Amino acid sequence: MKLVHNWYMVQAGPLDKRAQKMQFDDELMGQLIRFVSSHELGHTLGLRHNMGASSQTPVEKLRDKAWVEKNGHTVSIMDYARFNYVAQPEDNISPKGIYARIGAYDKWAINWGYRYFDAEKDEYAEEQLLSKITTDTLTKNPRLWFGGEGKDEDPRSQSEDLGDDAIAASDYGIKNLKRVVAHLNQWTYEPGDQYNNLEELHKEVVKQYSRYLYHVMKNIGNRYVTKRSVDEKGVVYAEVPKAKVKSVVGYVGRQVFEAPLWMYPAEIAKYIDLKPMEQISDQQSQMLNMFLSAGMLYNLSQKALTSTDPYPVSEFLNDLLPTVWKKTSPDVQQNTYLRSLQRSYIEKLGMLINPKDVADGKMMSSAQRSDVRLEAIAHIKAIRKKVEALIPLTSEIDQLHLNDIRIEIDKILKKTILNP
Ligand SMILES: [Zn+2]
Repeated sequence: MKLVHNWYMVQAGPLDKRAQKMQFDDELMGQLIRFVSSHELGHTLGLRHNMGASSQTPVEKLRDKAWVEKNGHTVSIMDYARFNYVAQPEDNISPKGIYARIGAYDKWAINWGYRYFDAEKDEYAEEQLLSKITTDTLTKNPRLWFGGEGKDEDPRSQSEDLGDDAIAASDYGIKNLKRVVAHLNQWTYEPGDQYNNLEELHKEVVKQYSRYLYHVMKNIGNRYVTKRSVDEKGVVYAEVPKAKVKSVVGYVGRQVFEAPLWMYPAEIAKYIDLKPMEQISDQQSQMLNMFLSAGMLYNLSQKALTSTDPYPVSEFLNDLLPTVWKKTSPDVQQNTYLRSLQRSYIEKLGMLINPKDVADGKMMSSAQRSDVRLEAIAHIKAIRKKVEALIPLTSEIDQLHLNDIRIEIDKILKKTILNP
């Protein structure tokens, strides 16, 4: 009950007044238990998870009141699709469009598993018939796709996500999360509570924010995997479209590199021990580690070689550049994070350009041996140019910082001459 309570408040709090308190009424809690127990009952009937089910609903349909109330926000109760966090308060969507329910996929799966065919002479003939029914049904209605347990690389099959576009869905999710944070003190109030509720729900908010981020990140470096029979049309492995991969960089720039200080407002910090510097810097650093790792860039470069719509490493780094190398804002707190992020960025590029192993005379990995290192050198030179342009536009500590960055870049570049 605590689990569904916390999910519902954090994901649907801005959409349903009944979610804005610590004790839900029986009607709501009953519905939430119905949702969880329907899923578990699905397992007892032999249904597996279908983590790809929610990907078959376009994000904009999740905001379409008439559509989502009629069809539900996912085609399967066997997904971990939880609640419609994409819907915005102004969409006025009723609970029918917010909680998951038994959907078209579940009915199809039960029909497939339990239908009795008395006309077939044995199980082999029945297998062929079922195979044909599957192909015909999925061709007619691709929304019935089985996306598996969400353990492979396919970004469509993820738990806790919604819709066909993680970037748009997560941006909407964050809009709602900001509304939750703004009311969290009030919603978690209970007489006599020593702010334990606030602390617990704030942790849930931070967790939900990370989920949104990881849904987005899965779109980079992975492929769509559609298992099918040889008789069906279509491929098994397909690229994630370039535009989508590019938009991952934009999302991270917007929601992570632009420090999410909204999650740590003074109004909450008065009552519980928040650690914004620690948590934000950790998250930013993780993203940089991923984006600027030899392995990830090597993977991108390999994919670009054979892709029909390639996203070369140089273009990726070019997209990344303005998300971190930008003019400081009037917000002094924001700038503290930006300077720290920029230092960290140069440090990681330095490791890419002058890997320790080279200095120690050890073998390099195939990633380090590839052109990735050269791309990184070109990139750090582009950053140096950008820094030069920014210096006259800044003053005081920001100017000192950028001068310092320029010196660091020169040190890194000098080292490449000493250790070619
Ligand atoms: Zn389950």
